[in-house]
Amino acid sequence: MEKNAIIVGAGLVGSLWAVYLAKAGYKIRIYERRSDIRKAEISAGKSINLALSVRGWTALKGAGIEDAVDEIAIPMSGRIMHAVDGDTTYQPYGKEDQAIYSVSRGGLNARMMDIAEEKGNTKIQYNAKCIGADLAAGIVYLENTETGEKFQDQADVVFACDGAFSAVRYQAMQKTDRFDYSQDFIDDGYKELLLPANEDGTYKLEKNALHIWPRGRFMLIALPNEDGSFTCTLFMPFEGEKSFETLTNDEAVIDFFKETFPDFYELCPNLLESWHQNPLSSLSIVRCYPWTKGKFALMGDAAHGTVPFYGQGMNGGFEDCTVMNQLMEKHQKDGQIDWPLVFKEYQINRKPDGDALQELSKHNYYVMRDYVADPLFLLQKKIEARFSQLYPNKWMPLYSQVSFSNIRYSDAWNAGVKQDEIMKKVMNRADINEVWDSQEIENAILNLIDA
Ligand SMILES: Cc1cc2nc3c(=O)[nH]c(=O)nc-3n(C[C@H](O)[C@H](O)[C@H](O)COP(=O)(O)OP(=O)(O)OC[C@H]3O[C@@H](n4cnc5c(N)ncnc54)[C@H](O)[C@@H]3O)c2cc1C
Repeated sequence: MEKNAIIVGAGLVGSLWAVYLAKAGYKIRIYERRSDIRKAEISAGKSINLALSVRGWTALKGAGIEDAVDEIAIPMSGRIMHAVDGDTTYQPYGKEDQAIYSVSRGGLNARMMDIAEEKGNTKIQYNAKCIGADLAAGIVYLENTETGEKFQDQADVVFACDGAFSAVRYQAMQKTDRFDYSQDFIDDGYKELLLPANEDGTYKLEKNALHIWPRGRFMLIALPNEDGSFTCTLFMPFEGEKSFETLTNDEAVIDFFKETFPDFYELCPNLLESWHQNPLSSLSIVRCYPWTKGKFALMGDAAHGTVPFYGQGMNGGFEDCTVMNQLMEKHQKDGQIDWPLVFKEYQINRKPDGDALQELSKHNYYVMRDYVADPLFLLQKKIEARFSQLYPNKWMPLYSQVSFSNIRYSDAWNAGVKQDEIMKKVMNRADINEVWDSQEIENAILNLIDA
């Protein structure tokens, strides 16, 4: 019997999940609201690039497509912090051979869509917007965005990978009884800027690093693109003394950059052009439950949209694919998958990790905004790194748990909270600057772990 599935949304998670389903012998129809990004010109600098880390790679490996992605991934082994006076400090993310990777969203998305289609049993229909769903019957209601024509499709199982503002969730799930939902916008928005390559195509900043200009209540970050440029993102409050609201004209923008990010300003001749080209966007955390109803399951941002400060939204969405695939294999008999059971276990197992991913993202928002330039915070990280090197079985830094392991987000978050409590006590010592690398501090941490 032919096995059919529908995926709503051909974004990052939808296109990866299509590869998994195609491998499992499913015939897949994907409906995507946008036009085919592969036919539009994708210039690396115009599309946000993302940081891909271990759990993302694990999911790509599971689908057998890590080599195809490796070709377009740039390793970033640490952060380079830029102070106002132009001084830079390098902070490695993990051990010497560890890195997170900058990949172009458009490039990654296009590659995965190609691979899904190559398997021969995936058909992507573009300009097809989901406008509703019959959850019990597995029906998706659609509209052709070019002609306005309305149509519908039905399958044994439907995956809503239609992002943080999911139409399946909004149009159908939220209308059912006992469906929990919340959406919280943070005070900050973001704007992208392009830092072009030098004329000879070389990079204007160190290529293999994530650059941060932390300035207390706001920050600028930059990730490398393959063509020598950097995609930079300014995160800042919408309102207040230093905010997007105050940058109302070109002069104010120039003054702000000259004063706040002078080294960046010197490097970026096209600042205003880039400023006007890119929109100001908002950021929110979306929580909901249940994640499955009838024949539908939410995956990726549709289930657990988060703020981007841990660089884990996509990685977490990719991990949904790993988990769903494991359950699909577990509950398979004679080629038939027990979807009700898969869905039940998926949401029970995965929801705590979705929640933890959101907590981690919020936490790192404060770390990047307020602490990465704080000498005490830097010392704390040094102590943690030293201790974890001496006692790798007793301490893995939170950043490493999240970015360089497949430890469940919920376990990492709980361990991180405990570590934070321990480090607060250690950092409270008045003489910590002098004794930070002593046996005494080592013993104090060991005692606190066992307490
Ligand atoms: C500024 C920023 C930086 C980020 N940086 C990182 C990072 O470094 N690392 C990381 O892991 N994550 C990062 N993220 C998060 C990451 O972008 C998301 O988690 C990821 O895109 C989620 O993938 P998705 O497929 O679930 O949703 P999306 O990528 O949003 O894809 C959803 C797809 O569904 C389509 N769609 C929407 N509505 C409909 C409809 N009604 N009908 C049909 N199709 C529809 C959309 O057109 C889209 O193609 C960042 C996010 C932002 C905003």
